[in-house]
Amino acid sequence: MVPSQSTDIFRTSLFKAEEFTITFELVPGRGSGGKRLEGILRFAEEAKKDGRIKALSITDNPGGHPALAPTALGLDIQSMGMASLIHFSLKDKNRNMAESQLFECHRHGLLNLLVLGGDFPRYGFNGQAMPVFDLDSPQLLTLIHRLQQTLPLEKEAPGGIMPLPPMDFLAGCVVSPFKTTEAEQLFQYAKLLTKISAGAHFVISQLGFDMNKYQELLSFCNKYAITVPLIASVFIPSIKVAEIMCRGQVPGVIFPESLMRLMQKESTNQDKGEEARLLRGARMVSLLKHMGYSGVHLGGNNLEFSKIAFLLDQTEQFTETANLQEMRQEVDFPSPSTWYLFSESRQQTNTVQAPSARFRVNRHIHDSVFKQGGFIFPLARAVSLRADQSRKARSLYTFCEQLIKTLLFRCRMCGDCTLDQSSYLCPQSGCPKKMINGPCGGSLHGFCEVYPKERPCFWVKVYHSNPPSHTGELPHCRLLPPKDWSLEGSSSWLNYFSGRDHNKLVK
Ligand code: SF4
Repeated sequence: MVPSQSTDIFRTSLFKAEEFTITFELVPGRGSGGKRLEGILRFAEEAKKDGRIKALSITDNPGGHPALAPTALGLDIQSMGMASLIHFSLKDKNRNMAESQLFECHRHGLLNLLVLGGDFPRYGFNGQAMPVFDLDSPQLLTLIHRLQQTLPLEKEAPGGIMPLPPMDFLAGCVVSPFKTTEAEQLFQYAKLLTKISAGAHFVISQLGFDMNKYQELLSFCNKYAITVPLIASVFIPSIKVAEIMCRGQVPGVIFPESLMRLMQKESTNQDKGEEARLLRGARMVSLLKHMGYSGVHLGGNNLEFSKIAFLLDQTEQFTETANLQEMRQEVDFPSPSTWYLFSESRQQTNTVQAPSARFRVNRHIHDSVFKQGGFIFPLARAVSLRADQSRKARSLYTFCEQLIKTLLFRCRMCGDCTLDQSSYLCPQSGCPKKMINGPCGGSLHGFCEVYPKERPCFWVKVYHSNPPSHTGELPHCRLLPPKDWSLEGSSSWLNYFSGRDHNKLVK
């Protein structure tokens, strides 16, 4: 369902096929005022007067650090008559807080949301913050979809059966086409399909510098009939931020060394390389428009609006006059040994892949015991239902499960087992964000965002344990509902056979 376009300039522009929608990302810092915020508000006022930027997006505790809430700045921007796009991340709010903040956004008319998992929470007041990730982005999109359609909420929570007025949110999601390994990239695309089926109305890409990868995302959406507007991120980094990105210190961002070397050379110019980076941004915007993107999401640190106005002026000139081939060569910075989905050489070989022996053994046991029709299923079910009748038997049964599954799977006894959806690897102990519906976007070169160069991403291990039967095929990515934490510490086997776990919702 596409939300109504109302008078919001962002919505109106986004769903007009002939329009190229431009947004800009604002990054509030720690505190409720100060010079940084004044600069942001000045930027917003000038952007409003200029009229080419259709929405200002506002980050939500970026980098996992504390900052002014995006809704606070969203209200300021809205009062100027400018459309806002509120980043709605799930790293530091549980499902109830998320729902409450959706009501808050709706109450204040902040209806354009960008749904994302978010960076792993980092240092804050007196230490590192606790990661939450109670919901992931497809699950939040599902909740938003329900609120839009006035579907009843869970009646267990007060007010759940009362009909709510429809909430006309416009909810976007993010995807990275810039992953360098096959496993990460295919899971990104598989999860994108899940987000679209959960109700995402538009997609914004991760920032990148590899033009073939930007093209790949368009081709993927074409192949899988994704028709929602697709917006490409274009980031204009300062030399300082480029160095941080190049060291791999911004989650999920690939910054090529070839571009770093060029920027270092440009930084010896009189203007410290400023014009060169703005022109590079303008060329990227022109090319992405030409490729067929619906718009661009601009970003960059310490950029006054006059710089962005210069970039947009240049973009208009390039669009009319430039040689596209030449322009592409000037802004294309692929990373060495990147995996491409539509690589011709690979499509010719089309290698057959097989699951690991560990996966095959686990699947055989799982299907025999837990699947209807499995040869141990009737016995396992009867014993389990019997054990569920008495407290003593339940304790003994739970103890046995804990012993077996701690040894075999590093089980954390969440009580709502999803092992069969992640190649029999436990996301509760294996993934720092406990993602159950595919990976977040934070991995880098196959490594986990939280343990870079140290631990492989959990979902990369899931992929290699049970890869799709042919290279280039998408891995399985089912949308599981949020976990019911009232089951924590109890036996997931008993919960499964007694119909208390998530299977009651997905069957
Ligand atoms: S019950 Fe939960 S914690 Fe244990 S293996 Fe399954 S998913 Fe992991």
